[in-house]
Amino acid sequence: MIYSLWFRLLISFALVIAVTIGTIYLFVSRSIAGEIERYEELREQIHIIETQDRLADHYHSQGSWEGVQAVAGNISAESGKRIILTNLAGTVIADSKKEVPVGQQYRPEPADKIAGNYFVVFSEDGEEAITVTLYLGSEPLAGDDAASPRTLGEAMSRFLIWGGLLAAGIALVLTFVLSRRMSSPIGALAATARRFGSGDLSQRVQLEERGEVRVLAQAFNAMAGDLEHAERLRRNLVADVAHELRTPLSNIQGYLEAIHDGVMEPDAAVIRSLNEEATLLSRLVDELQDLSLAEAGELKLVYQKEDVGDLIRQAGASLQPQATAKGVSLSLEMPEALPAVEVDWQRISQVMHNLLENAVAHTGKGGAVAVAASGLGDWVEISVSDTGEGIPAQDIPNIFERFYRVDRSRARATGGSGLGLTIAKRLVEAHGGHIVARSELGKGSRFSFTVPVSR
Ligand code: ADP
Repeated sequence: MIYSLWFRLLISFALVIAVTIGTIYLFVSRSIAGEIERYEELREQIHIIETQDRLADHYHSQGSWEGVQAVAGNISAESGKRIILTNLAGTVIADSKKEVPVGQQYRPEPADKIAGNYFVVFSEDGEEAITVTLYLGSEPLAGDDAASPRTLGEAMSRFLIWGGLLAAGIALVLTFVLSRRMSSPIGALAATARRFGSGDLSQRVQLEERGEVRVLAQAFNAMAGDLEHAERLRRNLVADVAHELRTPLSNIQGYLEAIHDGVMEPDAAVIRSLNEEATLLSRLVDELQDLSLAEAGELKLVYQKEDVGDLIRQAGASLQPQATAKGVSLSLEMPEALPAVEVDWQRISQVMHNLLENAVAHTGKGGAVAVAASGLGDWVEISVSDTGEGIPAQDIPNIFERFYRVDRSRARATGGSGLGLTIAKRLVEAHGGHIVARSELGKGSRFSFTVPVSR
């Protein structure tokens, strides 16, 4: 749970909330405390002035300080603060607490908050003046408790604490709900991935969310689609290979059983047939190896600068005997100046050989096979045309698929595995080029492919 996304979100939000509320509380309570202090000072100032006024009033009404002790007692009873009045020499005129007797010297205590507030009391006519000192005790000024700023400040602090706690509670509940909502699609994605991993390749994520989660789900679905496709191809390939291997193997088995049962003599003809089936098998295995390498993108191509003329002449020469034996003419045509190409000689020869072999195989006696090449900007196009049997239009889109043969029974007689064109296409594509077939039934076919010009 500690590592789950929703829990981490919850903790992060909780921290943010705590820090925010804590900071607000700190600032607000500090500024309230500052304000209260200022207010208290102001009240004290006002109190001093009021006290001075009342004492001066008494002096004016009496013409002397007589009876001022009672006035000081009254003021002190109202304000809660001790009052000491002395003359300039420090002799006590009045002490509201009556601790220091009148006429005695007063030594101000450090706790006396307002030591030595001199004030001058003028007589009525303004001529005679007497200067006295007013001391006030350090007790807090009495006031209406409910309305005092201190009480208000405390109430405000309480409000802040409770309000903060309430806000934090609401925020935590919201965070809990939101974080659960945010993390649940990821949980669903993980569950789908697990089901996919355990073999159900049809599993896909529902695209209900928006934003990053949707992008993630789309990426997952795309990956799942690719994997499912690859897995289907793999299964088909295994099935196709098993199917292709079965025929030559059962032929070999049949011959061997017949020989074993004494039904057939192991003469030269039977051994030749057995050898042909074995050759077919071994060719199939070689081609499958090439195909699997090409499909996995693991073909190691050795690029070299080659002359197209050389390539064509060599492929033509290797097929000449077969063409002659079938009574098919083989011609090579190409323009004089063709740029050199950048190819893997062996692989492109393999492509040419395959196309020429097919052309000769599917062209009857008296027919013609022609190889041509032409420049197309950064590419050279090489084509193999024949005047043979051609390919039915509906088969043309399929002939580059593995194991596809137009006429299965006849193809088998020619030893074709149905892999030749598939491999040729992969090899040409590995060079960056592409291969196309055009054909007209009964008239002939033309296969052409492109290879890159050397820079
Ligand atoms: P195979 O090894 O059987 O020849 P390919 O992949 O080379 O397999 O060719 C696939 C099929 O395409 C062949 O079985 C054949 O029917 C058809 N084909 C290929 N080349 C030609 C051609 N030049 N003329 C007519 N049919 C062709």
